[in-house]
Amino acid sequence: MTSTAHLLGRGLDASVEGRVLHDLARELYPICRSITGEGVRQTLAALRTHLPLEVHEVPSGTPAFDWRVPREWNVRDAYIRNATGTKVVDFRRSNLHVVSYSRPIRARMPLAELRPHLFSLPDHPKWIPYRTTYYDDNWGFCLSHEQLEALGDGEYEVVIDASLADGHLTYGELLVPGEQPDEVLISTHVCHPSLCNDNLSGIVVAARLAELVRKAQHRLSYRFLFIPGTIGSIVWLSRNEERLHHIRHGLVLTGVGDPGPTTYKRSRRGDAQVDRAAAHVLAHSGRPHRVIDFFPYGYDERQYCSPGFDLPVGCLMRTPFGEYPEYHTSADDLAFITPEALAESLATCLDIFFVLERAAIYVNRNPKCEPRLGKRGIYRAIGGAAGDRREEMALLWVLNLSDGSASLLDVAERSGLPFWAVSRAADVLRENGLLEEATR
Ligand code: ZN
Repeated sequence: MTSTAHLLGRGLDASVEGRVLHDLARELYPICRSITGEGVRQTLAALRTHLPLEVHEVPSGTPAFDWRVPREWNVRDAYIRNATGTKVVDFRRSNLHVVSYSRPIRARMPLAELRPHLFSLPDHPKWIPYRTTYYDDNWGFCLSHEQLEALGDGEYEVVIDASLADGHLTYGELLVPGEQPDEVLISTHVCHPSLCNDNLSGIVVAARLAELVRKAQHRLSYRFLFIPGTIGSIVWLSRNEERLHHIRHGLVLTGVGDPGPTTYKRSRRGDAQVDRAAAHVLAHSGRPHRVIDFFPYGYDERQYCSPGFDLPVGCLMRTPFGEYPEYHTSADDLAFITPEALAESLATCLDIFFVLERAAIYVNRNPKCEPRLGKRGIYRAIGGAAGDRREEMALLWVLNLSDGSASLLDVAERSGLPFWAVSRAADVLRENGLLEEATR
């Protein structure tokens, strides 16, 4: 194998990576996160034991385009106690029990009065739903339908010991500089409580990517954002408008731990290099996958791809959020995400990075008829497995298409060959003086 300088991710042991990723998810699982508050700070503090994350605190009330940073919410305890003194719903058993951003309450009331504030899932009677009330002044509890049905008439003591007050919105950011200022943006949300696929899977894969990128040599710069969904990306964009032109590629990572096939959602542009790189990597992965077009709902790609920015940012996930029943319920737990799926998502990102790193435009220095490759020992140099003619074919494709207009990704797409073969052929040809990089 020639030039290993940019071979991000080669040689990773998937079973070790899977365990590392799942263990980090397990560590972060108990934390009660929301779009603001101590849960986000605790999560970022845990990541800071692995990464030199910069933690930003943006005061409540700070304007961000059409939005404002909300008040900060923190919850210490919450429960519903029945007439005999038993806690029938207890935040300490599951942080999903309290509706996120509930206003504090301490009251006694009959079931009829309490009932409009209770949420359950009749179709999945053992699961607790996840609900929020960020922008409505309200309060509530989520509970399993079995718990709900067991509540008798009578009076209940209802306590949500929470605070909703001026404070900050917190997010984490890490720039890993490369040889060039051109950036790859990796963004993931950190605002859900004990939910694994929707939240923790993206956090752990992004954190591990940052660790690996920091150890590797790379041309591109990589910017990692750990932000609360929607308001976090809106706030970040509003504070970073002047540097957005550096973003050449981007991925929102979300729902990358469930065992379903990988789904890539294209950027609004539809044909950005990251869109093509992701589609190419998945097409050559040999695994079932989907590539879908942009639509203006989902995760933070909505903000990055709003028309005023139109950044080349796609979204990598596995099963899309509307398509699995565990979504936004207590069943999206540590058993729902698998080490294998997490490791595979990590490898997919690294393969996409590899394409983005290496998809340069080259010029054939011997363009008049084919150069004699045998004379230069080039066939021997590539010497792939007997019967695998892909690397030999890649030499011919790279030589033929490298006229200063086609990138190696263009060559890979047009030839139908995997990018690694095209990239390796380019290395060999360059080392033999037959190819040079065009100015990018
Ligand atoms: Zn969600």
